[in-house]
Amino acid sequence: MIIKKIVIINILFMIFFSSYAMAAQNWKENRSRHFIIYYKNAPKEFIKAVEESAEGYYYSIVKDLGFSRDQLWTWDDRAQIYIYDNEDDYLVSSRQAGWSSASTRIGSRAIQTYPAAHGFFDSLLPHELGHIIFREYVGVSSDLPLWVDEGVAMYQEKAKRWGADDEVRKAIAENRFIPLSELGRTRLTSATDREVVNLFYAESASVIRYLITEHGAFKFLNFCQNLKKGLRFEDALEKAYYRFQTIDDLNKAWMGYLKK
Ligand SMILES: [Zn+2]
Repeated sequence: MIIKKIVIINILFMIFFSSYAMAAQNWKENRSRHFIIYYKNAPKEFIKAVEESAEGYYYSIVKDLGFSRDQLWTWDDRAQIYIYDNEDDYLVSSRQAGWSSASTRIGSRAIQTYPAAHGFFDSLLPHELGHIIFREYVGVSSDLPLWVDEGVAMYQEKAKRWGADDEVRKAIAENRFIPLSELGRTRLTSATDREVVNLFYAESASVIRYLITEHGAFKFLNFCQNLKKGLRFEDALEKAYYRFQTIDDLNKAWMGYLKK
């Protein structure tokens, strides 16, 4: 046990000092109201554009999810955006899979990305900020199906918000549709079939959009408040949307809406 403890402490020290050394050596800082942007050699104009964009998204996401109506909601500390110089720098330093262009761990307040990442301002930034703001509100410890987190993040990407319904309708017509109960058990890994990954994201985006736009931001806020209070996912859903006693009720209503 003691040996184990020493090893763990050593590892913790190594992580602490390597991240400290990394921060001390390479990163420049740009602070704004809600964010600290860390960067190396990216041009100052680009960093200013990121700052403006991130601050703008902060307000629109908070408003879209209804969080601005909650008097008790506070955003206590700044989130961090790490801008690596280029794709190689990002992949090597952040240790992400080759297809990744941005990342935030669910529950973390840091985004890692690089300037030339595909869809930087329109997709990537609102998506990752959606993850951070949603979890900042409902709490890190809420045990949610991945499609809830991803659906909320996708909802912030305006282009995908509208396109997702058609993709899901197509999947229903072609018998590829994954019911929500099954979607909740789907694990995405680098080995997952690309078509399944795309459908996973499309369904997540579509069902969250259905909850927010068809039932109103007020109910969605109520659902989030229930999660914040520590209710289990299905209880939080049922308390906010009386019609959905189970996940299958939601699945049925959402499919009915798509078929209309
Ligand atoms: Zn995501």
